[in-house]
Amino acid sequence: MADLFDAGLARAWMLRTAAAVTRERDRLTELDAAIGDGDHGANLQRGFTAVVSALDSADGPSTPGAVLVTAGTTLISSVGGASGPLYGSALRALGKALATPTAGPDADAERMLAALGAARDALQRLGGAVAGDKTMVDVWIPAVAGFGFAVEGGATLAGAAQSAASAAEAAAKDTIPLQAHKGRASYLGSRSIGHQDPGATSSGLLFRSLAEVLTD
Ligand code: ADP
Ligand code: MG
Repeated sequence: MADLFDAGLARAWMLRTAAAVTRERDRLTELDAAIGDGDHGANLQRGFTAVVSALDSADGPSTPGAVLVTAGTTLISSVGGASGPLYGSALRALGKALATPTAGPDADAERMLAALGAARDALQRLGGAVAGDKTMVDVWIPAVAGFGFAVEGGATLAGAAQSAASAAEAAAKDTIPLQAHKGRASYLGSRSIGHQDPGATSSGLLFRSLAEVLTD
């Protein structure tokens, strides 16, 4: 179990997320077909395949901050849908927050909490969604809060990430009864009720993947 989030773990997180997106691609597509345009699985698979290629070279980024900035930039440039710029901005903000000049490159649980908070804030700034709008923000808010409660309680990096992942998965399910107020699903009005939000679901995969690589 890791005490510090380093470049190898950042890379492993992105690779694990890419594998999860590939595995769950059809489910993400079905969820988006119900309340959007059915491209969320394809969008994320294209994006994370490009991320894996960008991180694959031997002279790839050597700090966790640089790995996540590269991943975010790659998502922004390779995904056409709303989710590319949203995830891309979140990962870029996370990476930039880790690259503070006053501390070393590797992050403990406290610094990871601050960086995840910066990612959530970037996501909200770009998309303008608040809690309850039935978007990925509905997962990021409780996931980062879950990470924070665990850190306050003295949890390890892995323990905090496990709390975040559990909160994220529960919150993704909790989008089912909500009516969408942002993104394509909002065009459906009350007909968006009764379906799980695709971006909330893929955010659950992202947080679960983080917990897995930190626990290995
Ligand atoms: P598009 O909607 O352009 O087809 P995707 O299907 O890839 O893009 O992603 C849809 C997901 O993006 C939604 O399920 C939702 O979680 C998220 N999303 C859309 N608009 C916003 C927004 N303004 N703020 C936060 N998340 C959003
Ligand atoms: Mg879509």
